[in-house]
Amino acid sequence: MTQAANPYAAPAAQLTSGNKLCESCGAEILVKAEICPKCGVRQRRPVSKAVLLLLTFFTGGLGGHKFYLGKHWQGLLYLLFFWTYIPALVALVEFVIYIFTSSERLNEKYSAAPAGVVIAIVVVAFVGVVMIGILAAVAIPAYQDYVQRARVAGAIASVAPWRQAIEMHYFDTRKLPAGAADLRKDAVPGEAGGRQGSSVSLGPNGVLTVTMSSQSGALAGKTIVFQPDVASGAMRWDCTAGTLERRYRPASCRAQ
Ligand SMILES: [Zn+2]
Repeated sequence: MTQAANPYAAPAAQLTSGNKLCESCGAEILVKAEICPKCGVRQRRPVSKAVLLLLTFFTGGLGGHKFYLGKHWQGLLYLLFFWTYIPALVALVEFVIYIFTSSERLNEKYSAAPAGVVIAIVVVAFVGVVMIGILAAVAIPAYQDYVQRARVAGAIASVAPWRQAIEMHYFDTRKLPAGAADLRKDAVPGEAGGRQGSSVSLGPNGVLTVTMSSQSGALAGKTIVFQPDVASGAMRWDCTAGTLERRYRPASCRAQ
């Protein structure tokens, strides 16, 4: 039993430089040794406080620091719920706790993951941020476009009762109204305007102008003009005029 730890051995301070004591059997082994050549027990990797703080701060919301400390299941939990921002909040608290924890205490509590895991955490976090950036760059304009088209659709829908009232007037009188006063009172929609605040005005010859509301962002104040065409006996509407850009119009209201 000459291999057993010797209680009378020299203290650690007198170790040959570049050596350490095995955590299990106390034999003097290389600092870099991952497994003790004497007893075969895996040595814990020292936790770098700097690496831990950086990983917690920059990748904590994705559980990067948990993977670094070898707590893979916790890391996975952070990763699965990163979108709730709760892991990021928890990581921020942990970041503060780690700041006030000494390196010695961190090393007693935790064992670091191999360098490969740290690189993987950084790469995954970087790729994730880039991908979220690309998705946002594509999705945000697409969403804004969708909102604008929805506003235009709402504005166009608000014209429908006016068109109906003008058609009724035309079939009754064979004339186009010069203004709202010519129309039957009960057929004219309220002055409140259309949905989402767009307003409709009736001009001479039954021409309707829809003006986008001031809450329509870039489209505020833009118009779509509806002109009745009675040349063929039936009433047809042309809505290609107005200041609203072609790209926001439905196909039926685009100039050829
Ligand atoms: Zn050992």
